[in-house]
Amino acid sequence: MPEATEHFDVLIVGAGLSGVGAGCHISTRCPDKTFALLEARDAMGGTWDLFRYPGIRSDSDMFTLGYSFRPWKEAKAIADGPAILKYIHETAAEYGVEDKIRYGHRAIRAEWSSEDARWIVHVERSSGGGPTQLTCNFLFPCTGYYRYDEPFSPEFEGAERFGGQVIHPQHWPEDLDYDGKRVVVIGSGATAVTLVPAMAERAGHVTMLQRSPSYIVNLPAEDPLARLALRVLPKEKAYAFLRWKNALLTQASFQLSRRAPKTMRALFLSGVKRSLPEGYALAPHFTPRYGPWTQRVCLVPDGDLFEALSSGGASIVTDEIETFTESGITLRSGAQLDADIVITATGLNLLALGGVEIAVDGEEIEIGNTVGYKGMMFSGVPNLAVALGYTNASWTLKCDLICEYFCRLINHMDAHGYDRCMPQRPDPSVEVEPFIDLTSGYVLRAIDQFPKQGARPPWRMYQNYPRDILMIRRGPIDDEGMEFTRAPVAEPDKLAA
Ligand SMILES: Cc1cc2nc3c(=O)[nH]c(=O)nc-3n(C[C@H](O)[C@H](O)[C@H](O)COP(=O)(O)OP(=O)(O)OC[C@H]3O[C@@H](n4cnc5c(N)ncnc54)[C@H](O)[C@@H]3O)c2cc1C
Repeated sequence: MPEATEHFDVLIVGAGLSGVGAGCHISTRCPDKTFALLEARDAMGGTWDLFRYPGIRSDSDMFTLGYSFRPWKEAKAIADGPAILKYIHETAAEYGVEDKIRYGHRAIRAEWSSEDARWIVHVERSSGGGPTQLTCNFLFPCTGYYRYDEPFSPEFEGAERFGGQVIHPQHWPEDLDYDGKRVVVIGSGATAVTLVPAMAERAGHVTMLQRSPSYIVNLPAEDPLARLALRVLPKEKAYAFLRWKNALLTQASFQLSRRAPKTMRALFLSGVKRSLPEGYALAPHFTPRYGPWTQRVCLVPDGDLFEALSSGGASIVTDEIETFTESGITLRSGAQLDADIVITATGLNLLALGGVEIAVDGEEIEIGNTVGYKGMMFSGVPNLAVALGYTNASWTLKCDLICEYFCRLINHMDAHGYDRCMPQRPDPSVEVEPFIDLTSGYVLRAIDQFPKQGARPPWRMYQNYPRDILMIRRGPIDDEGMEFTRAPVAEPDKLAA
């Protein structure tokens, strides 16, 4: 094994919402284990530190996006980015995780040695010091799901001719002056519906230009039931109640959408119709071409998007871009949108494992060729779990369960003297299918990077919180999909070397 500087029981990669959560779980459930967090950037918080566009907020409620072990104590369930970042920082400080973060440390490659039952993790350091290696018994990538350096920006014809500014929300210039300006926001997802009302407060006019609409739900930012529960119940009890209520409601909305799409479509659209300003028709701007919950549903808190439309500060255009011009955008319909600033809210580039290359006993692993185990480990890849949250509910609901499982797994292995656990591929009678069953462009563009999933547990990913509680929290550790082994005892002369 090459010279390595330090060894840890666990190396967490990433200090975002999931990485910090993983650190808290390990420090409380496996208190004797040594661990560190490798963070490529110079700040913690991941998504909630990176994205700085006006209005940045959660699009799911904080009772489920918050950690199971640390209550979100405010009635405002839809929180803004800075409040979420503060919550992550405070949690990291309270659980002693912040001191374990190595900033400017990007993991680039991990090599597993069965002989040593260890990972060697190759790290690039941006803060000086050059490349280094660390070793660990367990690797826990909490690297999110998208590229930080490069958002998804489709090529638009004529973009080079445009005389104004083109900005992607992922790289928002701190000093962007849009007061009184004509802004076009390209996109129809969560970022676009957040940006439009926020920018409309200061811009001359904001146009949301969408190729096809998304499903939208108008909900109060402050949950009246949360206000009551937080007043009459102890904070922990209120939080647990609100977390379950919201998890079940979201699950019901998803399951019903899959089973009765026509009814749910009618329900979603009637909600929008009630919120729309006078004279605004549902079609074409609010009638998606796809079934509900085959892509993520967008949340509009306190009807802010509808208010911006009603005030005249914003409008929606459903059309396709023919070309950029010197002064704006020409649409397929022939219409012209004049703009000083164009915001390309066109999405993310998905990236599995934060781009970390994986090799097992000298063999390169293509994650796309593996089969996922319980939605968190990969067939043929030992001692590695990944924090991947739900696509149909709050990310943290699943990540908390994954962290619990990860700690149970480590404690189980200690109790039985195992040092290697390796998920097995299901036998060929178990059908395999894509890992994520959303049809959004960003998912379809990158689905090959992600593992397959099997048609039945423990290889199946249900995207279903109550079901995952049974499988991940309550289910056996030692099941048919997992193989546990002990590393061969090293020869004395090797130990001395
Ligand atoms: C604008 C926006 C709004 C969102 N709103 C919601 C919401 O309301 N509800 C919801 O459930 N989800 C939401 N999401 C999804 C969101 O990303 C997750 O909820 C959550 O923040 C993910 O946390 P994470 O720690 O897993 O990943 P991230 O926040 O992406 O953090 C990953 C961290 O890992 C680091 N990293 C990556 N690769 C490496 C590497 N190779 N080496 C070292 N460090 C590395 C990154 O620098 C980063 O700090 C939103 C996403 C976006 C972009």
